Amino acid sequence: MSRALIIGCGVAGPAVALFLQRAGWDVEVFEAADEPDAYAGLFLNVATNGLSVLEQLGLRDQVVAEGHRSPHMVMWSSTGRELGTVPNGPAREPERGSVVVRRGILHRVLREAAQHAGIPIRFGARLEGIEQSDAAVRATFADGRAVTGELLVGADGVGSATRRHIDPEAPAPAYSGLVGLGGFARVPGLAPTPEAQHMVFGRRSFFGYLVRADGEVYWFANLTHAASERSALRAVPAERWLATLRDLHADDPYPVPQILAHATGEVGGYPIDDLAHVPNWSRGRVVAVGDAVHATSPSAGQGASLALEDAITLARCLRDGPDHAAAFAEYQRLRQARAEAVVGYARAINRRKRVTRSRLGIVIRDAMLPMFLRTAADDTRNDWLYNHEIPWEAGVGGRR
Ligand SMILES: Cc1cc2nc3c(=O)[nH]c(=O)nc-3n(C[C@H](O)[C@H](O)[C@H](O)COP(=O)(O)OP(=O)(O)OC[C@H]3O[C@@H](n4cnc5c(N)ncnc54)[C@H](O)[C@@H]3O)c2cc1C
Repeated sequence: MSRALIIGCGVAGPAVALFLQRAGWDVEVFEAADEPDAYAGLFLNVATNGLSVLEQLGLRDQVVAEGHRSPHMVMWSSTGRELGTVPNGPAREPERGSVVVRRGILHRVLREAAQHAGIPIRFGARLEGIEQSDAAVRATFADGRAVTGELLVGADGVGSATRRHIDPEAPAPAYSGLVGLGGFARVPGLAPTPEAQHMVFGRRSFFGYLVRADGEVYWFANLTHAASERSALRAVPAERWLATLRDLHADDPYPVPQILAHATGEVGGYPIDDLAHVPNWSRGRVVAVGDAVHATSPSAGQGASLALEDAITLARCLRDGPDHAAAFAEYQRLRQARAEAVVGYARAINRRKRVTRSRLGIVIRDAMLPMFLRTAADDTRNDWLYNHEIPWEAGVGGRR
C-alpha cells in the first residue's frame, strides 16, 4: 500500500487523511502543536458546501449539533438601522444554511474521526525539511524525526512550509488592513438569536455576534489597523484590546457595548491575511491543500469549507488518476478558479468593513450598504458559494 505523509492536523489535514485512506492509501498525520487545543481560534462558519463534505465523512450531524445554525446574517448600521438580511447558505433553502461552531470542536470532530479510523496523528512534529527523489519523499521534523513516503500533502495552513518547498518564489500572504478579535460573553437579558448571526457596521469598527440558546454570546470585531507583526498583536494583553474595543464601539447600537462590557478571557488579536493566487500547488511528490495555497479572510466564512473541498477533491484525483503527477494537475485544475473567486469575494466584503476616519465617508457607506445588501438578499447570486457539491462516488477525469 502506498504511503502518504500529511502535514498539519487542522481542518484539511484530518479530512484529506480520511479520504485518502478511503481511496486505499496508508496515511499518517504530523502536527506541529504539542497537543490538541480545545479552545484554539475561537469559532468559525462551516458553510453549506463544507457541511456537504462533512456529511460524506459521516460528521455533519455532530458539527451541526454542537454549533449554532446561522442561515441568515442580519446587517445593522452604526445608528441601529436594520440594513437587510443576507443568506448564509442557499437563498431559498435556509434549512441547508451554514453553521457557526467553535474551531476546537471542528478540529476535535475531524481528529477523532481520523483516530477512530486508525490513522496515526503525531503531535509535536513540526515539519522543517522536505527532500524528494524519483521514488519517494522524505520529511524531517524539528524534533529530529524523519519519515519517508510516496507522497507528502501539506495541510499546514497559511504560513505553510510546504508551499515554500513547492515554490520558494510563491507569494506571501497579504494583509487586509483589518485585525481580527473575538471571544465569548454572557449578557444578562440578551435574547438568543436562533437561525442568525448579526453584523454591525459600527462607527469606528465592524462587529459581529450571535447568541446561542443557552445565552452564550460568540462575538468578533474587525478593527481597521495599520499592518503589524502577528507577534506584536499577540503580545497586547486582552484587557488592553477590550479597552480599545469598548471605546471604539461605545456609540454603537445595543447590544454591542453591552457584549463588550461582559466579554472576558482571551480575545485573539491577529492580522487578517489572505493569499489570492499561488501559481504552483504541487511539485514532484509534494502537494498542498487548504489555506496553504488559497487563504481567504474570514469575511467569506469559507476558509474551512474550501479546505474540506480540497481534501475530498485531491483524494478523488489520486483515486482516479493514472499517477500522482496527473492527479495533482487535475486537482489544481478543478480547485483553483473557485478558491480564487472566494478570496476575491472576501476582499470585496473587507473593503466595506474597513472604516474611514471621515464622517462623510461613514455617511456615504451607510447610504450605500442597503443597496448592496438588498441585491444580495433578494436573489440567489451567492448560491455559487454554497451549492457546490463534490460527490465522492463521481469519477474524475472521465472515470465512472
Ligand atoms: C479568526 C479566524 C476566523 C476564521 N473564520 C472562518 C470562518 O468563519 N469560516 C471559515 O470557513 N474559515 C474561517 N477562517 C479560516 C479557517 O480557519 C481556515 O481557512 C481553515 O482553518 C483552513 O484549514 P487548513 O487545514 O488549511 O489550515 P489550519 O486549520 O490553519 O491548519 C493548519 C495546521 O497545520 C499545522 N502546522 C503549521 N505549520 C506546520 C508545520 N511546519 N509542521 C506541522 N504542522 C504544521 C498548524 O498547527 C495547524 O494545526 C478563520 C480564520 C481565522 C484565523
